[in-house]
Amino acid sequence: EPYLDTSFIGRNIKYFDTIDSTNKKAKEIAFDENEGTVVISEEQTEGKGRLGRHWVSPKGKGIWMSIILKPKVDPIKVSKITLLGAAAVHKALKNMNIESQIKWPNDILIDGKKICGILTEMNCELNMINYVVMGIGINVNFNQEDIPVDLKDKAMSIKISKDIEINRKELLGNIINEFEKLYIDFRDKKTISKAIKVCRESSALIGKEVRIIKGEEETLGKVLDINEEGELVVEFQDGTVDNIYSGEVSVRGL
Ligand code: ADP
Repeated sequence: EPYLDTSFIGRNIKYFDTIDSTNKKAKEIAFDENEGTVVISEEQTEGKGRLGRHWVSPKGKGIWMSIILKPKVDPIKVSKITLLGAAAVHKALKNMNIESQIKWPNDILIDGKKICGILTEMNCELNMINYVVMGIGINVNFNQEDIPVDLKDKAMSIKISKDIEINRKELLGNIINEFEKLYIDFRDKKTISKAIKVCRESSALIGKEVRIIKGEEETLGKVLDINEEGELVVEFQDGTVDNIYSGEVSVRGL
């Protein structure tokens, strides 16, 4: 692994040619594997986004991976791991001279379209975390025809945008290296401020008018900031300002 410069994340890699979902596999093996174990597959036949939504994961064209983590933190803090993942992907791309934007809380955009989604799941009991699985899906070397017609206006790949084939191993190594640094700060020093800085500076939402969708509920507002807790600070149309915790909200531009 020439691109890896970590102490524990990615030191144990479970590699598959094909799999239903890397998050599903990671959850199955999480109790028996050490923190930092990575499940990675060339394709996913049932890749998942949030709320069970399908994630398109064609063979050899992306990075479809899940990282097993066992942080000793309060379970309510786990959603912050998604922001660490987003910041790590953004930094890794930047290291390779690729500019991107973070769409809080779990997507990375290029040219305003999604190239990466992050799905963090956890298993806990009695306020103790058994494990966390963070899945990262990145559209790396998709060609136009690899994007399903119904996703053409919201999905993008690095290759389509930059017109170059990307070395997936180099990008993978970079992401894991960047993630480990941010994760150690979170786990041991209980701080996410470096990741928040990255999410803020590269935010696709700050200053924008958005729709916030929570189940059946939809509200309009303007995004003011991402605070130190990693929450989205929104000013609603009636002038009230509130902090939105990532939970299960979707944010859409107007
Ligand atoms: P949202 O951004 O709407 O909250 P999710 O994070 O749950 O969505 O991701 C799932 C959605 O992403 C799918 O419903 C689909 O619209 C879109 N999608 C699925 N596969 C891909 C992909 N490979 N690249 C970009 N977008 C995708």
